[in-house]
Amino acid sequence: MIPALLSNYAPADLSFEKGEGMYLYGNDGRRYLDFMAGIAVSALGHAHPKMIGALTEQAHKVWHVSNIFRIPGQEELAQKLVDATFADAVYFCNSGAEANECGLKMVRKYFSANGHPEKYRVIAFENSFHGRTLATIAAAGQQKLLDGFGPVVEGFDHVPVGDIEKVKSAITDETAAILIEPVLGEGGIQVVQPEFMRALRELCDERGLLLMLDEIQTGMGRTGKLFAYEHAGITPDILTSAKALGGGFPVGACLAVEKVAKTMTVGSHGSTYGGNPLAMAVAGAVVEVITEEGFLDHVTQMGNHLKQGHAGVVDRHPEILEEIRGVGLHIGLKCKVENTQVSNKLLELGVLTAKGGDYVVRLLPPLIVEDTQISEFINLLDEACTELENG
Ligand SMILES: *Cc1c(COP(=O)(O)O)cnc(C)c1O
Repeated sequence: MIPALLSNYAPADLSFEKGEGMYLYGNDGRRYLDFMAGIAVSALGHAHPKMIGALTEQAHKVWHVSNIFRIPGQEELAQKLVDATFADAVYFCNSGAEANECGLKMVRKYFSANGHPEKYRVIAFENSFHGRTLATIAAAGQQKLLDGFGPVVEGFDHVPVGDIEKVKSAITDETAAILIEPVLGEGGIQVVQPEFMRALRELCDERGLLLMLDEIQTGMGRTGKLFAYEHAGITPDILTSAKALGGGFPVGACLAVEKVAKTMTVGSHGSTYGGNPLAMAVAGAVVEVITEEGFLDHVTQMGNHLKQGHAGVVDRHPEILEEIRGVGLHIGLKCKVENTQVSNKLLELGVLTAKGGDYVVRLLPPLIVEDTQISEFINLLDEACTELENG
């Protein structure tokens, strides 16, 4: 007999009964400091009053209708996102992978609608992560994601991040777009340099390609800007958002400029749940809080404090820790030992963190984190390292 629940995850033997702000309460009776936020999802922490308010208010009205009717929450949230970003139009879905699917379909549709159906290939980057659907595992191109799933969806070429000449030489007559995460999150918080982002934008302009950014993890304030592209002073043609957009309620979005968006004509794409009234109510509240005056400055400030605090710990434990990197509160702690050793020890001490590639422990606290919790974290990390050193 196998467990009734599919065994595609290997969860820790711990569940949570309640959450409040920066803390989660486990079924083991302990309180945990959340520096993971459900992998950059719970941007406003747990049980945020504005989110609860928005969700319960909508729950008493209407949960679901079909997209064959107008959903005012979609129009309002789309307008908010258009006002706050480069975008001219927004499509709503339920997850990050779906947002990327939409973006990739937009790339193909744009060229097809403009008389170039032969242009469909997308240049993407090694060590990326774009989701778990057939197209998004092909977009990431990592063997560990593709293994066992048959013929790989056609149309993706992979180059290393940071090498603009390699990107140039990967362009052919069939190339349509370049897809990149401004910070490779699952890849271990590998920050893409702003100069490289600008070079990609220029290259896209020169060669008539679309620039698509996967900001599913970096977006919605995580790096101290609403979206990370702002750090580079460029704008994309297509951008995907999810994770923190719903703050814990499943929702995704694909944002695009007019010339692209207008090729997605009636019937070209859709989703039963996409832009569901409950999702729109919650995401609307999240966007409102994140775009409030001072919120993003707080993220930047807390990110700086976290990094400053870490520097000392890294210096004190050179055998365990190598460096701290990242932007805003999108932070990677590069370890000299297996990252699971550090994250498991932190879990023992009551702190949740996320693992990433390249020996990195990802620190993704809710964006509402305050100095007291940063100090609490630094002290516990120091203790974790000391315990690891003493075996
Ligand atoms: C999490 C993530 C995804 C996938 O999002 P899902 O909601 O799990 O489908 C895609 N791209 C990036 C950069 C992510 O971090």
